[in-house]
Amino acid sequence: MSAADLIAREARYGARNYAPLPVVLSHGRGVHLYDVTGKRYLDMMSAYSAASFGHLHPRLVAAIERQLGRLDLVSRAYHTDNLGGFCEDLARLTGLDACLPMNTGAEAVETAIKAARRYGYDRLRIAEDQAEIIVAENNFHGRTTTIVGFSSEASYRRGFGPFAPGFVAVPFGDAAAVEAAIGKQTAAVLVEPIQGEAGVIVPPTGYLADLRRICTRHGILLIFDEVQSGFGRTGRMFAFEHEGARPDGLILGKALGGGLLPVSAFVARRDLMDVFEPGSHGSTFGGNPLAMAVGCEAMHVLQDEDLVERSRKQGELLRDALSLIGHSAIRAVRGKGLWIGVELDPDQVAAKDVCLAMARRGVLTKETHETVIRFAPPLIIEKADVLAAVDVFAAALEDCAPRRQRTIAGCVSA
Ligand SMILES: *Cc1c(COP(=O)(O)O)cnc(C)c1O
Repeated sequence: MSAADLIAREARYGARNYAPLPVVLSHGRGVHLYDVTGKRYLDMMSAYSAASFGHLHPRLVAAIERQLGRLDLVSRAYHTDNLGGFCEDLARLTGLDACLPMNTGAEAVETAIKAARRYGYDRLRIAEDQAEIIVAENNFHGRTTTIVGFSSEASYRRGFGPFAPGFVAVPFGDAAAVEAAIGKQTAAVLVEPIQGEAGVIVPPTGYLADLRRICTRHGILLIFDEVQSGFGRTGRMFAFEHEGARPDGLILGKALGGGLLPVSAFVARRDLMDVFEPGSHGSTFGGNPLAMAVGCEAMHVLQDEDLVERSRKQGELLRDALSLIGHSAIRAVRGKGLWIGVELDPDQVAAKDVCLAMARRGVLTKETHETVIRFAPPLIIEKADVLAAVDVFAAALEDCAPRRQRTIAGCVSA
């Protein structure tokens, strides 16, 4: 089947809830992806950070193969020999006490919401069914009905109500607004330390530390959603470490599955995790032996290959190189570690067209919010590939918005 036929078949029989680039991938290895015609691409997207180790990392593949030779899934009706080790490793890595593994990021967010509400009733004596969680505008925490109910993005919400009450949104990056929103029903503050889907929005320095102080002062919970920012993406193991702002609860996912499986977790202080007693929460697949084997190995690879430091160093290089392009269509280059958003002037160029032009030139990424190009390659990326990606981006900008006569004629969205 040709690429066009494969795309048509997807559209014919699949739900149309995504608008993918017209690239049909069939192979991947390390930082490279290959389409059905054999064309090679550099992956500057890494599946929204889920493929942070690159594709088919040999140690992760070996770990899942070893586990497949022993035991697959048994549910949480029984103990298994690798769940405890995974939880111990994750507790040590985060500096927290206990871990509840789930599968997708959204499920781990739901777990955090349940934990925060119960803690509010059991420990903070909030009146029944009145607990509130303070969130940030332009957040992204996943796609369940509860979660999209507190999104500020119309396309995530339209037609999906009625939504669950109990969430109060304040502007992102404004710690004073958080403090002003705290009332006697407030159980927790839930934010991303850097907003990913909103366009790699970095809050003002001091925001995370301020949130930590404010939550401690008011005796409420601080919960960070590090599903995308965690595991080295920002040049630290976790983004909260940039300001020493350890939360009471931490939501992890994406990279934890090593690019092989959905593995997420809610990690928390013991007294917060202990709001869950047997029967109160669960997941058939959460904590399964295959997921635990992969998750454990992912954490070890991250440390053995020093990927956090690589993210910091290569991220600096990426940011500097992008800043040096100096094209008039570039409004801002922002981010931390190997997680950079380039904001484009929509009057000069459409981010989607730039992504198409980059794909034609062999580099894959995806725009977010129509004006931002994201650069989030696997953390194993080498310097030469970082620079190659920046060259391709600069050339794609020229394709779409040539410096001399600024037209979009060279940018055919084919
Ligand atoms: C991707 C993401 C989620 C949702 O994860 P899924 O695995 O898609 O459910 C939640 N929070 C953040 C910050 C994310 O980036």
